[in-house]
Amino acid sequence: MTAFERDPDAVLAELAQLRAADAPTHGGRVLSYVYDSGVAELDDLAARAARLVQPVNGLDPTTFTSVAAMESALVGFARRAFHGGAAGEPGTEVVGSATSGGTESCLLAVKTARDVWRAAHPGDERMPRLVAPTTVHAAFHKAAQAFGLALDLVPVDPETGAPEVDDVVARLDHDVALVVLSAPSYPFATLDPIGDVGAATAKHEIALHVDACIGGFALAFQDGLPEWDFRVPGVTSLSADLHKYGYAPKGVSVLLQRGRDRQRHQYFATTAWPGYPVVNPTLAGSKPAGPLAAAWAIVRVLGDRGFDELTAAATVATAALREAIDGIEGLRVVGEPVGPLFAVRSDDRVPEDRRVDPHHWADAARATGWHLQLQPGMAQADGSVLPHTAHLTVTPVTAQVLPELVPALVAAADAVRGVAPVDGGTLVAGLAGGLPGGADALAAASASLDSDGAADLLAAAGLLGGDGAGGALPERLAPVLALVEALPGPLTERLLVELLARVVEPRG
Ligand SMILES: *Cc1c(COP(=O)(O)O)cnc(C)c1O
Repeated sequence: MTAFERDPDAVLAELAQLRAADAPTHGGRVLSYVYDSGVAELDDLAARAARLVQPVNGLDPTTFTSVAAMESALVGFARRAFHGGAAGEPGTEVVGSATSGGTESCLLAVKTARDVWRAAHPGDERMPRLVAPTTVHAAFHKAAQAFGLALDLVPVDPETGAPEVDDVVARLDHDVALVVLSAPSYPFATLDPIGDVGAATAKHEIALHVDACIGGFALAFQDGLPEWDFRVPGVTSLSADLHKYGYAPKGVSVLLQRGRDRQRHQYFATTAWPGYPVVNPTLAGSKPAGPLAAAWAIVRVLGDRGFDELTAAATVATAALREAIDGIEGLRVVGEPVGPLFAVRSDDRVPEDRRVDPHHWADAARATGWHLQLQPGMAQADGSVLPHTAHLTVTPVTAQVLPELVPALVAAADAVRGVAPVDGGTLVAGLAGGLPGGADALAAASASLDSDGAADLLAAAGLLGGDGAGGALPERLAPVLALVEALPGPLTERLLVELLARVVEPRG
């Protein structure tokens, strides 16, 4: 009998205590990050399914055949939902993989497109381009960096959040390995013009990825949308997260690709070492089967009817929330959002003293236990500025809490109406004033900052505790976002790295 240093129950009690300090994952109070079906049996089902496969290694579906069966069934479900054909014309069959999440699906879509482009352009030494609207998810910035593509961002209309078709088409050339559009985009829930762009990419034989990570499994059960999935002939791949509107625990997404030959470029295989032959469809080697099993069980239990019902609940709640926000003076919804999510901006059509700054609004809502997500404003390459907003991801459970949520949002707006947005310029000047070299030193800082220098700046901004450790979020996030908007991007990125790295450093 192994000697335990601690009693397992006591350790679990410790974990429960840690969990109690988390933002609430259920009950609809956090309107981002978590996707609560509101159906307790589904969470229980997911936990039981994950427990059954806990010791399995998803690395090898020929040794652990349950993994192959579950993955095949999940990809089949997604292929039906997104109208991917099975065996048809050679090269048109839609096949796919389960991945660990949206980011991995996006990374693999980019890696595949790059390798397909390389194979089709032997001897072309150029760095291939990835063309996408400014609103494309940050995972594609990461993918371009990781796999050596130049990210070519197309500005969107700041009112609608959508790119012009012609602006995207004008960027198409022989060096474009991939165009990415969203269904819908995360920042503003815009459904990008997939049909029209798809017609152009098909003509030029350029790959087109649809990032349906967030909304895919909701949009698929919504009526009245323009075609956005494999019904568009130019779409060559599509990602959709089961750990979002598939209601599975974190760690599972699907990446579908049109054509077996295209998809084989997703794989990494080698026999050039003395160990077992390695064949990986995804980035990880050994990997858990738990999230896959949970998603598989949820999809089996819900079926299309269950997804129809849950999507309807989220859709009704979204409509009710949008109507409530339309009724709040000083705020308005950005563009024409599609799916159960949207962004809210200050209404610049009313006098300044009647406007509501969305970041103050989000802070006021958070003080009463409702977590909206703050999104910074941003200048695009053409000089136009995207509004700073509050983001709301609506889930089926939101329908159950509307009677509390709507009055809380109204009261939060009343509490901050007419309060000017935090002036980031003043904050930056304050920070620069504390430095020996003033503003110039601040601008130059990102290149030369070491860890302690970054921590000093964070402390000066009030974002690090006296012990040099980052802890829980500050009470008000509006000033933090104002700094993010006002500081040079590379400096902000360096400071945020420092903050997050210090959060997990061992204490003592
Ligand atoms: C969430 C999301 C991703 C990335 O997914 P993760 O699961 O967080 O890795 C990619 N694209 C969009 C549109 C998303 O909303």
